[in-house]
Amino acid sequence: MAQKFQTPSGMHDLFGKKTKYFDKIYEVVSNSARFYGFERIETPIIEDTKVFQRAVGNDTDIVEKEMYSFKTKGDDNVSLRPEGTAGVMRAYIENNMYTKPQPVKMFYFGPFFRYERSQAGRYRQFWQFGLEAIGKGCPTIDAQIISAVYGMLKDLGLKDVIVEVNSMGDSKCRGVYKGALKKYLKKVKLCPDCERRAVTNPLRVLDCKQCVEVKQNAPQIIDYLCKSCREDFKKTLEFLDEMNVVYDLNPFLVRGLDYYTGIVYEFFIKDEELPLALGGGGRYDGLSELLGGDERAASGVAMGVERIALAMEKMGVEIKEKKPQIFIAQLGDTAKKKCLRIFETFRKANIPVYESFGKDSLKSQLNQANKLNIRWAIIMGEEEAIKNSAVIRDMVTGSQDLVEIDDLLKEIKIRLKNKK
Ligand code: ATP
Ligand code: MG
Repeated sequence: MAQKFQTPSGMHDLFGKKTKYFDKIYEVVSNSARFYGFERIETPIIEDTKVFQRAVGNDTDIVEKEMYSFKTKGDDNVSLRPEGTAGVMRAYIENNMYTKPQPVKMFYFGPFFRYERSQAGRYRQFWQFGLEAIGKGCPTIDAQIISAVYGMLKDLGLKDVIVEVNSMGDSKCRGVYKGALKKYLKKVKLCPDCERRAVTNPLRVLDCKQCVEVKQNAPQIIDYLCKSCREDFKKTLEFLDEMNVVYDLNPFLVRGLDYYTGIVYEFFIKDEELPLALGGGGRYDGLSELLGGDERAASGVAMGVERIALAMEKMGVEIKEKKPQIFIAQLGDTAKKKCLRIFETFRKANIPVYESFGKDSLKSQLNQANKLNIRWAIIMGEEEAIKNSAVIRDMVTGSQDLVEIDDLLKEIKIRLKNKK
């Protein structure tokens, strides 16, 4: 026997139940995002490595350890995208989107790649959806994005969703805070990575999964915010109150990427079995300049689709599907041909039907219809085919009616309607 293969470590096939959750998430997200004025954007899965180094930051776990980077045959240094915002901002700048009414609101839904240790809820290829509003920033936009995602999670059937919020300040007040944090970090024991980061990028220590205890006595950024950052933060929280979004203040939330300024937040479910964040976002007014654009305020969120699907599964969210109530069964070549046409008629009328054209025995087709809990079977043998007619059989009562092919759709519609 030839060698059998498996998916690469940390990657998974999507089919069956998983795709049902994914499809539902996409449906809710795209409908809601469009309602809020976000248009779809999909950027390439590969970008120039520098796009991520500059945007996400060189001292982050993502850039230091998790990127799939390689040289192309043409000697270009590229990386599989580990996150979505950098690519969207690159697209905004490259396509001169600042000539459009601002902010330009965009959403995406697609696969991302990080070389992480695979475990529950953590994969090397995973899906995210995200909303980005680029070109103008204010507390209303921040709050609207949070509330839009909060609403999506509720629409997907998730309960006990909570948003943890913090402010990262602007470059000035954050600078003062960084100074205080650096001073504090000199006095405590850190992991080898953080020993270095404590000097180069002290905020990253707060995001380290090994140095959790260090945070307990660390200075809090909230005490260092300047007047305007504090005002903005307060306003955003007031908007969230207005929209009944449940949130908690978390003074040490800094997010795993360098580009944030102002408010940052992460979505969680209050459940000990679901400790991982569903996603997060914030304000990133400095990103445009990091990628060669001019100064542009911006705000966005990125959500993990696998983690949302997992939460839906844990909470027993059922996905209602429009199940066919009709089955087309046929016997003989003439009937098969005519039934193929009937199948198309139902498709055009948007009425779902099952068929089993691969089967020739009428008995096994009707058995299948029974297993599928079908209410009506359309049955056509040679005799009916010659007469241009078919039998509609009520699979529950067993009653049968012979109808002309031209009347089939009408007759089925009557039955579907009366049943309701
Ligand atoms: P974490 O702290 O869990 O590592 P992160 O801060 O690295 O998350 P973000 O960059 O904020 O994650 O990405 C937003 C969301 O994307 C996460 O909250 C999560 O739901 C999802 N996500 C990130 N990395 C992975 C992964 N390796 N596998 C599955 N989902 C992921
Ligand atoms: Mg991570």
